[in-house]
Amino acid sequence: MNDSKKPVHATVLGYPRIGANRELKRAVEAHWSGRLDTAELDAAAAAIRSEMLDDLASAGLDSIPTGVFSLYDHVLDTAVAVDAIAPRHRRETETATYFAAARGDADAVPLEMTKWFDTNYHYLVPEIGPETVFRARPEKALTEFAEARERNLNARPVLLGPASFLLLSKASDEVAAEGDANGFAPIEKIDELTAVYEALLTALVEAGAEWIQLDEPALCADRTEAELEAVRSAYRRLTPIAKLFVTGGYGPFGESLPVLLESGVQGIALDLVRGREDLAALESLDVSRETFISAGVVDGRNIWRTDLLAAAADLERLHRVTDRPGVSSSCSLLHVPVDLDAETELPSSLIERLAFARQKLREITSLTDADAPRHQRPTAPGEWRDETVRSRLAALPEDADRRVDYAERAALQVGLPPLPTTTIGSFPQTAELRKARADHRRGLMIDADYHARMKNEVAAVIAEQEKLGIDVLVHGEPERNDMVQYFAEQLTGFATTAAGWVQSYGSRCVRPPILYADVARTGPMTVEWTSYAQSLTDKPVKGMLTGPVTILAWSFVRDDQPLADTADQVALALRDEVADLEAAGTGIIQVDEPALRELLPLRREGHDAYRAWATRAFRIATSGVRPETAVHTHLCYSEFGEVLDAIADLDADVASIEASRSKMEILADLDRAERRTGDEGNAVRGVHQVGPGVWDIHSPRVPSVEEMTASLRLAVAAVDPKRIWVNPDCGLKTRRYEEVRPSLANMVEAARIVRGELA
Ligand code: GLN
Ligand code: ZN
Repeated sequence: MNDSKKPVHATVLGYPRIGANRELKRAVEAHWSGRLDTAELDAAAAAIRSEMLDDLASAGLDSIPTGVFSLYDHVLDTAVAVDAIAPRHRRETETATYFAAARGDADAVPLEMTKWFDTNYHYLVPEIGPETVFRARPEKALTEFAEARERNLNARPVLLGPASFLLLSKASDEVAAEGDANGFAPIEKIDELTAVYEALLTALVEAGAEWIQLDEPALCADRTEAELEAVRSAYRRLTPIAKLFVTGGYGPFGESLPVLLESGVQGIALDLVRGREDLAALESLDVSRETFISAGVVDGRNIWRTDLLAAAADLERLHRVTDRPGVSSSCSLLHVPVDLDAETELPSSLIERLAFARQKLREITSLTDADAPRHQRPTAPGEWRDETVRSRLAALPEDADRRVDYAERAALQVGLPPLPTTTIGSFPQTAELRKARADHRRGLMIDADYHARMKNEVAAVIAEQEKLGIDVLVHGEPERNDMVQYFAEQLTGFATTAAGWVQSYGSRCVRPPILYADVARTGPMTVEWTSYAQSLTDKPVKGMLTGPVTILAWSFVRDDQPLADTADQVALALRDEVADLEAAGTGIIQVDEPALRELLPLRREGHDAYRAWATRAFRIATSGVRPETAVHTHLCYSEFGEVLDAIADLDADVASIEASRSKMEILADLDRAERRTGDEGNAVRGVHQVGPGVWDIHSPRVPSVEEMTASLRLAVAAVDPKRIWVNPDCGLKTRRYEEVRPSLANMVEAARIVRGELA
């Protein structure tokens, strides 16, 4: 790119593919339910792509990415492009194969889904074994390239790069079943895969592509020498075929940067939002002035307007390194909503500071025009500051620890039978409940009726749990639309968008709240529900809050101060809520942190600092309680081996942790971590009591008494039984009562059996 005389080449690395009005969701869901056949689905997809091209074409970019549409997930698209489809997913038609891999069907479980780097987007994890045979399937890439060429656009096909594809894959179960999982890593297939990429690139070149974008975000994480060597050899083979523009986009390339440049890539995209150090690194490397280097100054991860003055200064620096400078987004715009113009209810002082995907394209092109007016970002209005919050935080002790150590306070907390049973918080969100909430929001149901309806539900949930014989009850969370939005709507400093949808996975979109100003609580947020539930039973009812890290992770967060400072403000608001719950007689308070792992920095270098602020925020939220009050936490959506030290630093009395899919692996991790801290004589903090999930709630299957008994036996063998709780992997809101009742009954029975064995 930038072969013209134009000083700066404008482009974008990727674009939202859900449609401005979530057309993708409607089309694929209609297809799944049989209301839209394959041809109609294809037509709907083509219409979305056409709208994407309209946006990209009208923004005045110098080149545009193609192939960035996806029916479900771009990692799965790449698996299709190299034909790395597991035999169990192959069906008669391509569409059926694709969705069998994405969602599973009666005959096959789907691919595993996991978070895309430190975002809330989930990708499908390809399964690769030594037996996998790759084949080039360039049809999708060719079709989408042709669609752009028909409009005479300067189009650049985009593919996930070969190294990232393999680094994001996992060894197939066949390999694991042979007990050979540690002996094979997908990256070992790099030579075979590179041969197939040669064919894919060749097909695109023959169709007229000059530049091809290969996304290599996995190179923004720590990589081994062997992995870097694999990158080097792959790119040496690919660079002769087409001009390659390599992107990372979730942090600095770091040590991958010289590797890519040495292997001859003709273009590179720097993420100057989260990987600024790459710019300085580039200045000290011996870079050919012919290399196209784009400055990713427009944040693809967040919704704030770009500081165009600062961005222009970065571009100046780039001019000194290369004759072919470019300007772009920091990564694909996949993570931001499509159009700010849809937001008519937001305050103008906020609108002025925001840019969604369409607005970001305009920012990019404006940076190529030296005469365009450039403004610094305005500082926040004074009323966005809350001095009370700030001075209260300044007065908190540095460590924010609980005043009484675990050993002492545990003896004071509610007495329970051994292996106490509990659930994670939510009970099924029935269609009826969702309708009541929607009616209430639209003004079709008055507050009093809505509250009565929700209280009925709480009473029903309490009755269910009493009948099942569960030891620690929950109110069921019927009043919560979403565990973050529910709090965001009640705290100051947050705004909710009308249509700010972003893809979470497949057809699932979320509407993250915008955290733009200082955060404060204006009154109790949950006390009414928990107290009401407690009034109906003699068993203890847990209070239920969402933790500060998770609230940040699932919102668009202000970037004018460190995340740590914002986390502290959210934590202080939660601390007040915790105090109110305690004062109302709640003896057990759970603060969920399912996103604790998600925000962990990609590179080890950042781990300690993250652990320090993330866990301090949790302790700010929870350490104000009396020693008699038990603090619980809950974690899910990932493997927690890597953040066990952080979990320990939360200093929660009880942590319930998703564990059933990983077959209770967490227990071995825990054991290792404890030996380690034991050596250091760290007696104060630790993962005290633990509830490893025994029921995989992501599946509609009812787990048997036998399998949960087996899991519990593993748990009591690995950890002192006095520390073990019995609970599902996560909340039950996506399940139906037909599954929940028998599953919980089996869980209670399993606990009873293992209690008997302990006695
Ligand atoms: N308390 C929440 C629930 O049960 C926790 C959800 C989560 O961990 N994602 O729904
Ligand atoms: Zn969970």
